Amino acid sequence: MGKPVLLSVDDDPGVSRAVARDLRRRYGEDFRVVRAASGDEALAALGELKLRGDTVAALLADYRMPQMNGIEFLEQAMDLFPRARRALLTAYADTDAAIRAINVVDVDFYLLKPWDPPEEKLYPVVDAMIASWRDSPDAAVSDVKLVGHRWSAPSFRARDFLARNAVPYRWYSVDEPEGQRLLEAAEAGPDDVPVVITPDGVVLRSPTEAELAAVAGLSIEPSADFYDLIVVGGGPAGLGAAVYGASEGLRTVVEREATGGQAGQSSRIENYLGFPDGVSGGQLAERARRQAAKFGAEMLLTRDCVALEPHGSKRVLRFADGSSIAAHAVVLATGVSYRSLGVAGADGLTGRGVYYGSAMTEAAECADQVVFVVGGANSAGQAAVYFARYASSVHLLVRGPSLADSMSHYLIEQLAETGNVHVHTCTTVAEAHGDGHLEEVTLHDATTGEQTTYPAGHLFVFIGGAPRTDWLDGAVVRDARGFIPTGPALIEDGRRPHGWTLDRDPYFLESSLPGVFVAGDARSESVKRVASAVGEGAMAVTLVHRYLGER
Ligand SMILES: Cc1cc2nc3c(=O)[nH]c(=O)nc-3n(C[C@H](O)[C@H](O)[C@H](O)COP(=O)(O)OP(=O)(O)OC[C@H]3O[C@@H](n4cnc5c(N)ncnc54)[C@H](O)[C@@H]3O)c2cc1C
Repeated sequence: MGKPVLLSVDDDPGVSRAVARDLRRRYGEDFRVVRAASGDEALAALGELKLRGDTVAALLADYRMPQMNGIEFLEQAMDLFPRARRALLTAYADTDAAIRAINVVDVDFYLLKPWDPPEEKLYPVVDAMIASWRDSPDAAVSDVKLVGHRWSAPSFRARDFLARNAVPYRWYSVDEPEGQRLLEAAEAGPDDVPVVITPDGVVLRSPTEAELAAVAGLSIEPSADFYDLIVVGGGPAGLGAAVYGASEGLRTVVEREATGGQAGQSSRIENYLGFPDGVSGGQLAERARRQAAKFGAEMLLTRDCVALEPHGSKRVLRFADGSSIAAHAVVLATGVSYRSLGVAGADGLTGRGVYYGSAMTEAAECADQVVFVVGGANSAGQAAVYFARYASSVHLLVRGPSLADSMSHYLIEQLAETGNVHVHTCTTVAEAHGDGHLEEVTLHDATTGEQTTYPAGHLFVFIGGAPRTDWLDGAVVRDARGFIPTGPALIEDGRRPHGWTLDRDPYFLESSLPGVFVAGDARSESVKRVASAVGEGAMAVTLVHRYLGER
């Protein structure tokens, strides 16, 4: 973080240099002194400081400058740094200017040139300005800054992406004054949002996830084109495989979005071994990511695998942009993605009040609101307990007649103990309504057949997932629902899968294509749990070693 700034602007180069010299002599240790020779130059400097998250303690502007006088400059500077203290310099007493300065820009001081000796005339004034600024300084921001619309799907996606990849960022709504100031400094308009400003002051307008990943220092380009092992998917199974694989010299994970997978969206995982008090999915994902990185795993983010092709013993993975990487062996750990709600009105409101998964970045926005959560499994139960901390009430909508068959006992008890959670069984969402963002939901009560519409700001959907494995069609055998059978599940009537070339049965986690293994939720008949996904990731690496040893 840079030192706070003292900025002086004077069109006379001699005066400008002298002011800067005097300021540096006395304040140089604690402040950065910036000087400019015109209002425009000073405003450009302030714009850059704003984008970099620096703070400005005081502005000293000459009154009589051509093009833009000192008052006009201070007026515009206030738009960027409203808390910076302001002084106007004039060559002779100018009562009109003083009055205008006080009225227009609420100037703190009015200084007569020359200010020699500075100890008597300049420093007492600047000391007072600094003391007054210190009482309510501008907050310096070294994080990535993200300016967006409260109800906009692209803005939500950018926030969610940064949060899930553990990139510290500061969120500003375009409706708040600081958001406006940042847009102005970035010379961006409302159509450019989300606007992302990096700690170095680089401005990105409506960035793609790959651009966001790049500015956040996340890796998006493979360092090689051939690996021993490529793991597809950075959820618990993929990270499990990465930790065990990398510690044994096998090292790459490819992830479409953010590491952590579904588990990264869990507000509290209470049943994972070693965390008696529970752990948030974000924390677990972050630790696993660091652990994999520590062992030397390379993690490629925002890379969507769209094809798997066998080329002899090589396994080639193709990305959406047409590029590819290859390996001796592959672990598919692609998990499942949420099924969409599929009711009228919901699709257009996704990211604008309708969210799939916890969308924990939304928690603060739920303060004192009525929140609806759809689903009867643990993920929905966790979310209901979590949002109940913020919302005035949470309504959990469950299709079946009871939670007992689908949710863990400990969560059912937690829900019962949380006063502002209301469980509605035999209830589904029939319709979502809203102009630009969710405003109402219509619920269907299956016992009475009645439909009722309620005001609603947030609807979080947890209705189970489906594997997104279409891209593997023709490469490996998939079951009717798209899950990938492995090992014994591939043997039918004692026969190995069609096209199987090896003189042995597929290993327990091996797919119908030798050297391609499957771990976690994407596997047919898998247990949908973090612990089993991590365990399968580890086991897959052992089987990869066995496979590589055969060659
Ligand atoms: C909200 C919530 C709460 C949960 N709570 C618990 C709990 O308390 N306890 C528990 O045990 N389990 C819980 N679960 C279940 C648990 O999270 C999953 O079983 C586990 O995450 C599965 O891990 P996985 O690695 O197999 O798949 P996922 O976690 O689904 O990860 C798969 C990853 O692969 C990536 N990917 C997919 N396709 C591609 C592709 N083509 N190219 C590149 N990347 C791709 C995805 O982006 C994703 O990051 C919860 C799930 C949710 C959603």
